[in-house]
Amino acid sequence: MSQQDAIEKFAREKLSRMEARGLRRVLTPTHRFAAGATERDGARVISFCDNDYLGLSQDARVIEAAVHAAKQYGAGAGASRLVVGDTPMNSAIEQKLAAMKGLPAARLFGSGYLANIGVIPAIIGPRDLIVIDELSHACLNAGAQLSGAKIIRFKHNDVDDARQAFEARKDYGRALLITETVFSMDGDRAPLARLNALADEADAWLLTDDAHGFGVLKIENPAPLQMGTLSKGVGAYGGYICGPEPLIDLLISRARSLVYTTGLPPAVLGAVYRALEIIETEPALGDQALQNARLFCDLAGLNAPESAIVPVIVGDAEAAMALSNALLQEGFLVSAIRPPTVPAGTARLRFTFTAAHHERDIRASAAAFRAARQSG
Ligand SMILES: *Cc1c(COP(=O)(O)O)cnc(C)c1O
Repeated sequence: MSQQDAIEKFAREKLSRMEARGLRRVLTPTHRFAAGATERDGARVISFCDNDYLGLSQDARVIEAAVHAAKQYGAGAGASRLVVGDTPMNSAIEQKLAAMKGLPAARLFGSGYLANIGVIPAIIGPRDLIVIDELSHACLNAGAQLSGAKIIRFKHNDVDDARQAFEARKDYGRALLITETVFSMDGDRAPLARLNALADEADAWLLTDDAHGFGVLKIENPAPLQMGTLSKGVGAYGGYICGPEPLIDLLISRARSLVYTTGLPPAVLGAVYRALEIIETEPALGDQALQNARLFCDLAGLNAPESAIVPVIVGDAEAAMALSNALLQEGFLVSAIRPPTVPAGTARLRFTFTAAHHERDIRASAAAFRAARQSG
């Protein structure tokens, strides 16, 4: 068999097995506009799937800043930041992020994913221990795996279970405790103060992932290591970690996903800097995203949300799909999240609310949700 044929055969077989198990994924070209307006398959809908919590990806000021930066510095960074790709805006953004987080220093990465798979192996190795919330994002787990450390998962938000994981602490060198500030599929928050106290007690370092909190919630976070993304509330692209100065310095030499990859494109940096300025000067934007989530929950008869993410646990995967389809018929795009993305039996609808959603769309979607649930 030719290489070409062998590769095709391998991929076809893999795809049909996934298809049979309902795991095959597809892409849908999507054109996003302001206020959640979205066009796919020729139809106009209102999206409740965006992580663009503040609507900044469609903000004219942010887009203008991206255009300006591209004109000034070019379309690409040209090289790794360690060579000639350290476009001046990088350090300005790092200083701003550190100040906004109230931590000594920050380091930018190409994305949140790249930050997690770079930072964790840079500070933790095969003789060390990682204790991580079981619902942590795929890239936190990927970073943990890459480190070669012993990994123990603790029950979601269960500090006592996390404490048990440290029972064999003395068998290891360094130890890292990992959680998210706001969980992406559940929208709930971690008990950060108690986890930080546990880290103190266990001689471990607490690392938090603020992907879904930054810009939306004012979270009291005592963790010395705080990472996040610039692709959600910030509306652009990129990732970062904030922490002690020497650690941030060390990453320039040790984080492979920083050293061996090209710096962020100038347009992205321009957008990020402007978006951060807006987040700093307009804190009401984050409040509005949360307010919109609250309004929806209120109208839909759901418990008050802890963040801009509202999960509706349906249980059965097919029932979740049916609800999602019913909402789509009414012009509302809401993801049905099924296993294995979430644990078996917890298939759900996942609504995300942004500051940019119009109140009339929130009211109409809540009415459509109530009707679909009743008839389903
Ligand atoms: C989205 C997400 C990331 C990855 O960020 P990107 O910048 O999109 O790579 C990391 N952690 C969590 C919790 C996320 O939700």
